[in-house]
Amino acid sequence: MTKQKRVLVAGAGGFIGSHLARRLAAEGNWVRGADLKSPEFSPTACHDFVVGDLRDQAVAARVVEGIDEVYQLAADMGGAGYIFTGEHDAAVLHNSATINLNILEAGRLAGVKKFFYSSSACIYPERNQLDPNNPICSEESAYPAAPDSEYGWEKLFSERLYFAYARNYGIEVHVARFHNIFGPEGTWRGGREKAPAAICRKVAEAADGSEMEIWGDGEQTRTFLYVDECVEGVRRLMESDFAGPVNIGSEEMVTINGLAAMAMEIAGKKLAKKHIPGPQGVRGRTSDNRLILEKLGWQPTQTLRAGMEKTYAWIAEQVRQA
Ligand code: NAD
Repeated sequence: MTKQKRVLVAGAGGFIGSHLARRLAAEGNWVRGADLKSPEFSPTACHDFVVGDLRDQAVAARVVEGIDEVYQLAADMGGAGYIFTGEHDAAVLHNSATINLNILEAGRLAGVKKFFYSSSACIYPERNQLDPNNPICSEESAYPAAPDSEYGWEKLFSERLYFAYARNYGIEVHVARFHNIFGPEGTWRGGREKAPAAICRKVAEAADGSEMEIWGDGEQTRTFLYVDECVEGVRRLMESDFAGPVNIGSEEMVTINGLAAMAMEIAGKKLAKKHIPGPQGVRGRTSDNRLILEKLGWQPTQTLRAGMEKTYAWIAEQVRQA
């Protein structure tokens, strides 16, 4: 019988972290969560949950104690309304870099042998994402580096930090670049929500025949990956001998207008789209799944529509209860 693992999910109070913790617990691991807050929408699956600030070295040292493997997802994070306005740049860089510096150093000192780190598609250079129909996001295209946000720069720095620790201290690291993960129990209001959640909320709140606001012309393209698929990709990566960095995302491209139309169809509503100025990010972005398919045999198993149906149902319920 294999020994039960003791794993830490840093960021277990957040969207992906809470789903990942549930999966790790269901697999029979002993799971500790650490976050500034408990999960908002359902009880944590963690066996032990530390509410604490990972920018504090003492907290980082406490949460890695007795841990075999760390999944590091804690970050100062948000959708375009949070990371592209410039107002939070210093906080994003300082907070997320400090978390990663602390977790790695504390983990190394405590003898943690294996780390997962969640990087982002936001590390890819803007120059390759100007054509909405043909964005390039293959892993090696990250360099020469030119992310379009400080959030992306911090992720790139921290990727390098994890790989440097692997080289110099002999620990095992696995790094994934997530591309727009969405699903139930994600932030859906308040300014940090991402496009799928924001669009579902706007559609759920609007009366049939009224209008909804869309930032920009809505012709920018994106791909979105349902959270369960993301968790599956993370687990496969951690069980493999492949360090990455590797994309975990979908290749099913949709414009923001197309995503809004899909949400309306699911809701059975017809709304006029009102285009207003707002942060939009790059013109086009898709995951490039060639590497992960080759290394891990992984690719998404369900359509965007299937994930949107589940997400819309959950957000419509939140709107009803609000
Ligand atoms: P999230 O904001 O829901 O989760 C991040 C969690 O980190 C939050 O619960 C937050 O409270 C916690 N946190 C922030 N500062 C902290 C601190 N100082 N100490 C302790 N905890 C702290 O975001 P998410 O969507 O679940 O993303 C998880 C990870 O995946 C993040 O690192 C994010 O950058 C990365 N990522 C997410 C996406 C996506 O589409 N959701 C895309 C690319 C990368």
